[in-house]
Amino acid sequence: MIGTVAGLDELTAEMTTWRRDLHAHPETAFEEQRTGDFVAEKLASFGLEVHRGLARTGVVGLLRNGDGPMVGFRADMDALHIHEETNLPHSSRNPGRMHACGHDGHTAMLLGAARHLSEHPDLFQGTIAFIFQPAEENEGGGRVMVEEGLFDRFPVEKVFGMHNWPGLEVGRIALRPGPLMAAYDIFELTLTGKGTHAGMPHMGTDTIMVGSQIVSALQTIASRSVHPIDSAVVSVTQFHAGDTWNVLPGTAVLRGTVRTFRPEVQDLVQRRMGEVATAIAAGFGVEAVLRYERRYPPTTNSAAETELARRAAARVVGEESLDLDPMPSMGAEDFSFMLQKRPGCYVWVGAGPSDQGRNLHSPHYDFNDAVLPVGTSYWVRLAETVLPK
Ligand SMILES: [Zn+2]
Ligand SMILES: [Zn+2]
Repeated sequence: MIGTVAGLDELTAEMTTWRRDLHAHPETAFEEQRTGDFVAEKLASFGLEVHRGLARTGVVGLLRNGDGPMVGFRADMDALHIHEETNLPHSSRNPGRMHACGHDGHTAMLLGAARHLSEHPDLFQGTIAFIFQPAEENEGGGRVMVEEGLFDRFPVEKVFGMHNWPGLEVGRIALRPGPLMAAYDIFELTLTGKGTHAGMPHMGTDTIMVGSQIVSALQTIASRSVHPIDSAVVSVTQFHAGDTWNVLPGTAVLRGTVRTFRPEVQDLVQRRMGEVATAIAAGFGVEAVLRYERRYPPTTNSAAETELARRAAARVVGEESLDLDPMPSMGAEDFSFMLQKRPGCYVWVGAGPSDQGRNLHSPHYDFNDAVLPVGTSYWVRLAETVLPK
């Protein structure tokens, strides 16, 4: 049968209340104390076994129902450092902090699924680990949970995640095997030359001129070093040099980000950045030092688990409302660290139009509550699909 799970009306009303309460009280990376309390208290009231403390504010709820494997369902709980401008009744009570990515909705939907499944043990057999992680934005709370032994303490066989996706209609779900979101790396390039009088450039080595050549040349990595069918973005987002009108500075610092989908491409971009920068700089007598830091790996879905997710999603929205070949996003997601350790699938759940500020990380964004029954139904159908009776 296609459609949202029957009997969710009352639960949807409750999830809406939870979601708006979470929205009004946003907390950022590793400070999700109130949110963690909220989640833990709800999970306990549904009869789940609650574990706290992983990655400081992380919460894991275990729902056991007979013999069978353990699977992980994950939601993120954190907000962003954004000043909310929605003027909604439930807008942020914490100035400078805002749920602008919909993690309030993700948390409410996974709580809703935990409640529904706890009340319907006839639907699945095995154990579900409901993973509520902190610090998805910037700080890699998912990585910290994995490093602190998430999958040793909760040995799930597979792990699943979701994100609401503005620009995709409500009632549609997008997923694909392989990478759905990019790897996110940062870099810092320090140029050291010899400062000089701006009227006497021959007396020194001009790091601004050298840095400018490097900024241009870095763009050839994507266009001339990476295979034309592969993807890479190199963006220089900061160029710091000089303090006054008439001095050519002796140092310059460039910073930026790199996005890729495949480890081979990531390796290639990092190597070429170093080669291009040091060779150009050396040609002008300037020293270039590259610091390159890999932040988030690509979010890569495994084939078998993507097929399970597809079957569950089709039962909710129908085959015709699945988007099975979405264009991957150059954004990044720390669920990738969980997917590095366990096979699984991350899906996008349609959240409606993305105009008028209804986009992720906008101060005008608000999670679309019409998504709540769709996302919760997906979790419930997924439990039935991966842990059949
Ligand atoms: Zn975000
Ligand atoms: Zn997000």
